[in-house]
Amino acid sequence: MSLLISFIILFIGIMIFCNPEWYNDYRGIFYDFSNLRILASSTFVIVGLIGIVTSFRALNRDSQKNEMMICPECQQTITVYTAQDGRCPHCGGELEPLDGFYERHPELLDEDTEPGH
Ligand SMILES: [Zn+2]
Repeated sequence: MSLLISFIILFIGIMIFCNPEWYNDYRGIFYDFSNLRILASSTFVIVGLIGIVTSFRALNRDSQKNEMMICPECQQTITVYTAQDGRCPHCGGELEPLDGFYERHPELLDEDTEPGH
């Protein structure tokens, strides 16, 4: 669910809850089903909030993936900001994206668990 749609859903929920005049045309129905207004508005608000939270979490996850790099030589993880030339500041090795690094280099996982390394 996109962030914009989530905000629109949340806004509709708040509108239904805070502005009963919005329901003018349906006043007869509104009086008969006053509980429905609360139910509908809270449903909209909850769905909107869930959408906003999940959208922000997805954005966070993506930006963290893009920010982190790893050096295959010394296996230091470095943010893109501290290594703008794409080289490791510790040993000068060429950096790779951290995402999926150990899938591409499974041999480095075993080396890393050796004692004294
Ligand atoms: Zn390095």
